[in-house]
Amino acid sequence: MMGHASLLDCPLCQTIGGVLLWQGPQFRVIDAADPAYPGFTRVVWTAHVVEMTDLSAPEQLAMMRAVFLVESVQRKILQPHKINLAAFGNVVPHLHWHIIPRWEDDLHFPAPVWAAAPQHDAPAQAALDARKTAVASRLPAYHLALQQALG
Ligand SMILES: [Zn+2]
Repeated sequence: MMGHASLLDCPLCQTIGGVLLWQGPQFRVIDAADPAYPGFTRVVWTAHVVEMTDLSAPEQLAMMRAVFLVESVQRKILQPHKINLAAFGNVVPHLHWHIIPRWEDDLHFPAPVWAAAPQHDAPAQAALDARKTAVASRLPAYHLALQQALG
């Protein structure tokens, strides 16, 4: 656990951290609102803990079930080529998972979304923009399905 002063500095204690899709007592689900990655979703533990092993076993299970639920809804509604799951907390040491739908033509594929973006020529950029627009059009259905699945 971090000291009390750090809670006041913690962006995930002080703000939602994105667009709130669902809030429960233990965790919330937010849209990361990343324009390069429509559908990029995060599950954020409510309490300020740093590592998965700060949680009890039932809490760990609840967190991972939420992450897998988001993954399942992304597969069903957004149908990406791949889904990336990641938990770092190097910059914001407050437990959260990233669930990122990936496409073979996305900005960084096959590198992680945090890598430096490679150059895209104009046709590749146009294809990328068209695919992002198509994914963005499915976000309302994706968000609704997430909220229904979370209950
Ligand atoms: Zn925090």
